[in-house]
Amino acid sequence: MTNTHEYSKMDSPNSDYSAHPAHPAHPVIDSHCHLDSFDDLNAVIERAKLNNVSKIVTIGTQINDYARLRAICEQYADRCYMTIGVHPDNVSTLDERTLEETFAHITDDRVIGIGEIGLDYREHPDIDVKTCQQKAFESQLSIAQTHRKPVYIHTRNAIADTIEIASRFPDVRGVFHCFCEGLDIARKVLDLGYCISLSGIVTFRNAPLVHDIARFVPLDRLLVETDAPYLAPSPHRGKRNEPAYVRLVAEGIANLRGVPSDVICEQTTANFYELFPLAQNYSQ
Ligand SMILES: [Zn+2]
Repeated sequence: MTNTHEYSKMDSPNSDYSAHPAHPAHPVIDSHCHLDSFDDLNAVIERAKLNNVSKIVTIGTQINDYARLRAICEQYADRCYMTIGVHPDNVSTLDERTLEETFAHITDDRVIGIGEIGLDYREHPDIDVKTCQQKAFESQLSIAQTHRKPVYIHTRNAIADTIEIASRFPDVRGVFHCFCEGLDIARKVLDLGYCISLSGIVTFRNAPLVHDIARFVPLDRLLVETDAPYLAPSPHRGKRNEPAYVRLVAEGIANLRGVPSDVICEQTTANFYELFPLAQNYSQ
């Protein structure tokens, strides 16, 4: 789920993708999206295939998401993986029992990581809500530590607390998804050993902060994502996003860094497998 509000159900996209039959584009991985939000999933996956999106990770956000996301991974077994985790917006009913239920299948090797977890203070929550979010974040980081699974971190208007809590779990690795903070924060996140993932925001003209991040992050710590159906990259801004558009994110970063987009596709793919080794299991 997004760190900003940019999505409308206007229409599904046409097929103007950048793959060229003569020069097939380098495979690229959509490291974060929400496939359970699509009611035309066959067509969405078909377009992703057409655009050589080799792997797609669908992200957990709710208590007991497992069965629904697992079915999607079963149906598209050649490229879909999943995570288990409870988004900070959904932790009010998380207790010991529901935590245990939610993570009952954590050892499933289709579950390549834990997420999206973290903190979200956009609604200016009171201390009780903040405490509830922080406890849920800590519990899920602890599960990640126990099972040695990397995490997807969601943070909005809560970066200081997010970094403080993450730093208490030094053995946990992961990625800050849809990164929208400044260079100083990026340095702190990299010092913690995390990767930084960029979304369609990097293609927006009025996103100078994220442009700076795209130029700054070491190539071996970069991932790309769509967070679909949210945050469609230009030229689809404001429309429904989908995994096929992750190539536009890679191209946006490539333009900012002045390198061919294949360099970004290749490197973010290698970074993804380094962080999520389980995703190698079902390689084509
Ligand atoms: Zn998300």
